Amino acid sequence: MSNTEQTLSIIKPDAVERNLENEIKEMFKNKGFVIVKEKKIQIEKSEAEKFYKVHETKPFYNDLCTYLSSGPIVVMILEKESAVLGNRELMGATNPTDAEEGTIRKKYGISIDKNSVHGSDSVDNAKIEIDFFFKD
Ligand code: UDP
Ligand code: MG
Repeated sequence: MSNTEQTLSIIKPDAVERNLENEIKEMFKNKGFVIVKEKKIQIEKSEAEKFYKVHETKPFYNDLCTYLSSGPIVVMILEKESAVLGNRELMGATNPTDAEEGTIRKKYGISIDKNSVHGSDSVDNAKIEIDFFFKD
């Protein structure tokens, strides 16, 4: 039985700034992800606060929202079999230092805050996050 899913991916400001957009997209495509929709945007801090609301009590919340709104980002809907987990695996651990060889964060992440990509962490959150950026 097939289990095609969609997930939300963001190429974060540190990666867009270093012109890594195409290299990161190649990594997704090489793993069989289809980029269903994409757009390059810059968001307001208030939008970042909404997007990351789940983290609002964390000490890093303010810096995280400042950072995500600090420059252009590329938001994408990725699709494939088990896309949510597959994307998390391809991204690697939140802290690039802990990320495995061959993952995006290992290859391109600078630090735990500038870790180059975001990916939804569950099928339910993927739906919410896709709606957040692509519902018109
Ligand atoms: N983050 C941070 N400091 C921390 C933990 C997280 O700056 O100690 C940032 C980091 O950019 C991370 C984001 O907050 O990607 C969201 O955190 P989460 O735990 O959801 O990690 P992710 O799902 O992105 O791996
Ligand atoms: Mg997360």
